[in-house]
Amino acid sequence: MWKTVAKHLLSRAAEARTADPAVVQSLREKVGASKLGRSLAIRHVSAGSCNACELELRATQNLVHDLTQYGLSFTPSPRHADILLVTGVSGKNMREALLQARAAMPEPALVVAVGDCAVDGGVFKGSPAICGGAGGVLPVDLMIAGCPPSPERIVLGLLALVEANGAPARAAMPRREPR
Ligand code: SF4
Repeated sequence: MWKTVAKHLLSRAAEARTADPAVVQSLREKVGASKLGRSLAIRHVSAGSCNACELELRATQNLVHDLTQYGLSFTPSPRHADILLVTGVSGKNMREALLQARAAMPEPALVVAVGDCAVDGGVFKGSPAICGGAGGVLPVDLMIAGCPPSPERIVLGLLALVEANGAPARAAMPRREPR
């Protein structure tokens, strides 16, 4: 199996990942004052997800997508976090948990909604049991749609956030060649 994985990785050219410049510009206007720098810690809260978004989120940390090479890492504590990343519908019983996680984070902080459920409730939109996504509880800075969004899409969205926060802006780092 490992031979197959290594063959697959080595056959892929080292492509550069670059965030969409239009998204970066719009984020820069939105979060320009935040200036968190280029190394961001993420606190993830699942607020009523089916777990598929979590699987894709975990995949961003594997050796193919390697989120940490962009200065992004997950932290278990909101007190150490720059980004509150929300998945799931934001069920009404998760409202307080989300508010508490956000309140525990040092300022400035950003909120990212990942997956259609977190964007607007997704397939559960209109249900009286939900707040209608993360935006129904907190102001959201970045939405990454998809059901679930692919790891590539999540990485590119977060990369746009890193680019928007970086001062001065610079081209995205090339992907590291697998050894
Ligand atoms: S967006 Fe889709 S994959 Fe993600 S939690 Fe909702 S239903 Fe599940």
